[in-house]
Amino acid sequence: MMPVSTVPTPYRIAIVGVGKIARDQHLPAIRNNPDFELAATVSRNGTIEDVEAFTDLQTMLAQRPDITVVALCMPPQVRYGYAMTAIAAGRHILLEKPPGATLSEVGSLRTEAARHNVTIFATWHSRFAPAVEATRQKLAQTRIRQLHINWKEDVRRWHPGQDWIWQAGGLGVFDPGINALSILTEIMPHPVHLTNAVLEFPANRDTPIAARLDFADPTGAEVNAVFDWRQEGPQSWDIHIETDAGSLQLLDGGARLLIDGTTIVAEAEQEYPLLYVKFSELLRQQISDIDVSPLRHVADAFMLGRRVEVGSFED
Ligand code: NAP
Repeated sequence: MMPVSTVPTPYRIAIVGVGKIARDQHLPAIRNNPDFELAATVSRNGTIEDVEAFTDLQTMLAQRPDITVVALCMPPQVRYGYAMTAIAAGRHILLEKPPGATLSEVGSLRTEAARHNVTIFATWHSRFAPAVEATRQKLAQTRIRQLHINWKEDVRRWHPGQDWIWQAGGLGVFDPGINALSILTEIMPHPVHLTNAVLEFPANRDTPIAARLDFADPTGAEVNAVFDWRQEGPQSWDIHIETDAGSLQLLDGGARLLIDGTTIVAEAEQEYPLLYVKFSELLRQQISDIDVSPLRHVADAFMLGRRVEVGSFED
């Protein structure tokens, strides 16, 4: 296969796993980006009108050598197998978040991608939210005293019928919570590490429905997070930060930034369009972007966290 930089754009791309995020975000982002052309789908059940559909990745890779790029949009438990198959066939890959079910899987993908000279983009879509970069810049210029993450949503509303999310490797409340951790690891001027966690597991599920996390910060800031999937009524995906330069509120999953109550950033969300702009740039430069720091915090929480059993959860 030709090195991707010598392949004229648009890059022919296949979506693998035609589910909610593929339809809601990847499809429009690809269609609106002239650097990409959606050339096929691979899904056991899902298809997209007027796009060649395969039910098996190996068959697609064999029959469509012109497709140099694949976007892996299935649940994390099965992502590794698909990724290894695509890499071995010399294809460049975009990984939905989280990039794997374990840190070691992602390490192995990194090694194989380097061996096969292909690009991996391990995406964290929330990092492309409109106010994240402004928050990062602000925090780089001041001292953080406290940072509190409040990520509370109604699982019945946002994840109906998604059995995988409750099965081992599906992360439970860390599926949305890892978005907050991807923002945390982007905006902090230095790394923090988890020191304490309490995870609440429904009696009938493999994964937690709620979590409380405490982090140690090398400069002494108090950093903590609450994730909860039992939130009815108003939903919150907010980060509150007290600094020497004022009080920052990063709201709505990173969409809005207020400083001392004054709106600094409030723009329309463009996460996936920007994510594909970045992917095109990585492909052009023939480099990978694989940051596991959000997944490492989750792994630490599962390793260090105290487990509390709570009542059974029914969808
Ligand atoms: P989903 O709709 O439940 O599943 C996506 C697709 O994956 C399914 O349509 C299915 O396609 C395929 N799939 C499911 N189980 C599979 C298996 N065992 N083997 C092979 N393929 C399987 O999930 P989603 O909400 O799109 O989420 C997928 C990933 O995107 C997750 O990692 C999630 O964290 C991430 N994400 C989701 C959202 C969101 O708002 N939903 C936002 C950002 C990121 P077929 O059955 O047709 O093969």
